[in-house]
Amino acid sequence: MEFGWTKEQEMWRRAVREFAQKKIAPRVREIDTNHHIPDEIVKGMTDMGLWAPTVSEAYGGEGMNVTMATIAAEELGRAEISLALPVWYLVEASWGYIFERYASPELKQEILPDVTAGKKFLGIATTESGGGSDIEGVTRSRGEQQPDGSWILNGEKVYISGVKESQRIGGIHMTLVRTDPSAGHKGFTFFAVPLKDNPHITPTYFENWGRTGISTGGFTMENMPLDDRYRIGKVGQGFYMAMEGFTFARALIGATCVGAAETALNMGVEYIKQRQSFGKPLSAYQGINFPAAERFVDIETARLLTYKAAWMADQMYEKGTFKHKDIALYGAMAKLRAPIMAFETFNEVANWLGAMGYSKEYPIEMGIRGVRSYSIGAEGGMNIMRMIIARELIGGEYTNPRQ
Ligand SMILES: Cc1cc2nc3c(=O)[nH]c(=O)nc-3n(C[C@H](O)[C@H](O)[C@H](O)COP(=O)(O)OP(=O)(O)OC[C@H]3O[C@@H](n4cnc5c(N)ncnc54)[C@H](O)[C@@H]3O)c2cc1C
Repeated sequence: MEFGWTKEQEMWRRAVREFAQKKIAPRVREIDTNHHIPDEIVKGMTDMGLWAPTVSEAYGGEGMNVTMATIAAEELGRAEISLALPVWYLVEASWGYIFERYASPELKQEILPDVTAGKKFLGIATTESGGGSDIEGVTRSRGEQQPDGSWILNGEKVYISGVKESQRIGGIHMTLVRTDPSAGHKGFTFFAVPLKDNPHITPTYFENWGRTGISTGGFTMENMPLDDRYRIGKVGQGFYMAMEGFTFARALIGATCVGAAETALNMGVEYIKQRQSFGKPLSAYQGINFPAAERFVDIETARLLTYKAAWMADQMYEKGTFKHKDIALYGAMAKLRAPIMAFETFNEVANWLGAMGYSKEYPIEMGIRGVRSYSIGAEGGMNIMRMIIARELIGGEYTNPRQ
């Protein structure tokens, strides 16, 4: 067992932290207010190799493994506590990896170099108006193959990150549709759907109350013709690819929560050491320092679960020593603990700050709003994590809600 970092991991963490603290942290309020990630930050991320760093060098990426991607996610969360930029990062790092694993060489060549250069957006679209948790039960979007091998796509996706960004700079959303209605979860296929300048796409937008620097929207596909080369992976493989991508993304979400929560806790600790009440600093009272101790442990717990999930994923991809279901379990555990832990940390620190904690003088409210998106939805709600964990603990045959 080895809990230390390698030299390479330490250097990467240091480099991302330096960049993120210098170039991103001072601009979090601006990102949240303007609902936009400034172009200079996008450019800086490109120079740092932070767009889809998991994509191989052949397509302009860094060929980083899951642990390295997780380290960067933690540092971006530490700097950008509204969690908008970390979402953009983690969507591309996780789904970009899945895209490279399954797309054809021609499609990868067409899409990935622009994604890793920060010039195009790569998103994920599985959720529909009927719900996001039960993909197999509620997905209505359809893909029908034509006699010449091409496809016609119809349907609507909702609550999708990056629709505005994709409309602005171009790119694709990995879009899950049903291609065989009689095949249950084996009847899904992924396609790379370009949203920009696409006459068959009608975008919609939602106004979120958190992580506002990246848009959330949706899109309708109406009789959209798509060449077969835009298919990602095999016909019928989509559901499994979705589960694999969710697992990867959940580890990264865990890391962004750990980084953001640590920023909040450090901010709070500095404050309680200075602030005097009843003749002593707040930090001298156990009503304050016991919750601080609890949050400290919670952060470390979430960090351990997160990096274990990342490490296991690397073992699976590099050595084949774990199966996806093992990583899915740890990804779900990290996703179950980390967003709640971060929310509670922000909330606790707001208490310590008193009235200041409720004002926009402090960035705490941005963290509370941002991190809440992770427990409500994004890459699966909390009960879906509990379902995955219960399935592993008790057995699928005893916990399947469809039986
Ligand atoms: C800010 C934001 C960005 C997002 N970005 C994307 C994106 O880029 N791409 C994308 O595809 N989706 C995205 N989503 C959607 C997200 O994946 C869904 O919100 C999530 O899957 C939950 O689906 P739902 O919101 O439809 O809730 P539902 O599926 O309707 O579930 C509602 C509630 O019931 C719970 N629940 C469901 N089934 C059960 C059960 N069997 N037992 C107990 N409880 C249950 C859920 O956990 C949830 O709390 C985003 C969501 C948010 C909030």
